[in-house]
Amino acid sequence: MKWLNRLGSIALAMFALNAIKNFLSKNTIVVFEKIDEEDEDYEDDGPTNIVNLKPENYDHSMDLRGTPTHICPCGCEIFNVKVIFDNFEIATYFLDMECSNCGSLATAPTPIDTKGEF
Ligand SMILES: [Zn+2]
Repeated sequence: MKWLNRLGSIALAMFALNAIKNFLSKNTIVVFEKIDEEDEDYEDDGPTNIVNLKPENYDHSMDLRGTPTHICPCGCEIFNVKVIFDNFEIATYFLDMECSNCGSLATAPTPIDTKGEF
């Protein structure tokens, strides 16, 4: 009788492993970290202040100047550009710009760069 219990336990374990294997092959498990809002380290100040919209360091920055672009290879679409205003509008801007996420240098696009797409 003892061997029958052990055999039954082994069969049940094999069945459970097979069920887990089937579940994992058909589903993806995604793990999210729960943010505890009462945690002292958690700060929600709302949107990022424009003053802080700059790279923390330039370890991953590149010099991509040459080809006008709208997006940095890091995926960021926000650039720091120096502009000149006239009559409440942007009158001109420098072509060298810096990605506000990674600090890579890039060339700002101009209307001439559209190749007649307008
Ligand atoms: Zn970037």
